[in-house]
Amino acid sequence: MQGFVETLLRHEGALVEPIEPEGLEVLAPPPVQRALGVAELSRVGFGSTLPPAAERVGLEGDWLERFARLLGPQGRYARRVLSAPGRAPNDPERLLGHELVLDNATFRLLGVTPAWTRYLLLDFRASAVSDDKRDFIVRLGVNLATGALLLDATLATLALSLDAADLVAPFSGDDEADRGVPEAPALPALWDRSRVLDLIARALPPRFDAKLDHFIAGMHRRLGRDQGRLHGYHNDLHREAMRRALALPEGDPRRQREEQRAAAIGREYRAKLDDLARQYATRVTVEWVQTLELVMPVHRFAVQIRRRKADRVILLDWNPLARRLETPTCAYTASTERPGMVCDDALHLVVPAAFCPCPACGRAFCRACHPICCPKCAAANALPTRRWTDRFWSAPDATGGHASR
Ligand SMILES: [Zn+2]
Ligand SMILES: [Zn+2]
Repeated sequence: MQGFVETLLRHEGALVEPIEPEGLEVLAPPPVQRALGVAELSRVGFGSTLPPAAERVGLEGDWLERFARLLGPQGRYARRVLSAPGRAPNDPERLLGHELVLDNATFRLLGVTPAWTRYLLLDFRASAVSDDKRDFIVRLGVNLATGALLLDATLATLALSLDAADLVAPFSGDDEADRGVPEAPALPALWDRSRVLDLIARALPPRFDAKLDHFIAGMHRRLGRDQGRLHGYHNDLHREAMRRALALPEGDPRRQREEQRAAAIGREYRAKLDDLARQYATRVTVEWVQTLELVMPVHRFAVQIRRRKADRVILLDWNPLARRLETPTCAYTASTERPGMVCDDALHLVVPAAFCPCPACGRAFCRACHPICCPKCAAANALPTRRWTDRFWSAPDATGGHASR
């Protein structure tokens, strides 16, 4: 925290002097004073013991919000070039056979060539709130040349390489030609905004679901326990009222009273269940945080997919830092599941669930080709329902303001 604050303040033009114990003395220019709400000369402390006359800075309180004010829109979009060792992958046939497993089609490796690609690494912050609250970050990485989504392990490796590269030589952006970064078309173009948003809309929910699983399971446990308690209590009352009613002769007004009491207990039980459902309903809000455009050399596999009489060439990149071939992405779900089916018409690679039979007429069809309804009977496409609402996507400019490019 001290390192971050020191770096940020210096960057914003403040004079900063470390003081003991674990503190900073700050001479702040007016914009910094306004954003942070501090005087021209101030002292801040970070440890358990504060320097004399210092204010404590930590994760508690509103200091993170104040620093966010100071940062403003800076750092929302960055571009880095990583020059990786150009060593080619060993045994590409074996690598391909490992990554590409198709149930209803064959494929053939046409060739492997050195190439450049551009990744977008998008960070999102989500908060899930019900009776409990959880915050987490999800990073989505997409290869703009092939459309492949990166695995978490690859994202972690790239993040480590970026940290190391930043330490060695912060990239200024002026020396791209020196690093051999090619122009288009050898370097894939940035996608337009709608294409990025469409991919995010499909790719983010399954990844958040995976992060939320633990949270949701815990909530279901607590909900089940509360429902059981509610049921036990009302069931006993109801049974007791009915026992008393049935002990009385029919038409006896006391019997009617007991029956009405039993009915009222039933109503109260249902109302309490509704209260519980409201209490445990989970609201997830997702916010785009930042986008990193990462340009780097890769080795590009050209693969011919063959299904019946049709064929199509797809591209898959082998990343030299992660030292693995990127897995193709399902053309419909964009989930983390590896696509194992190839459709007849467009030769889309899809997961089995996106190629399942229509629930109305039984015909299997590709959801990437027909996302709205079944091509045979026009029954609405019921796959796969998610518990995410569209409001989720009314969202910020995930292309980092570079949509016009
Ligand atoms: Zn149908
Ligand atoms: Zn298709």
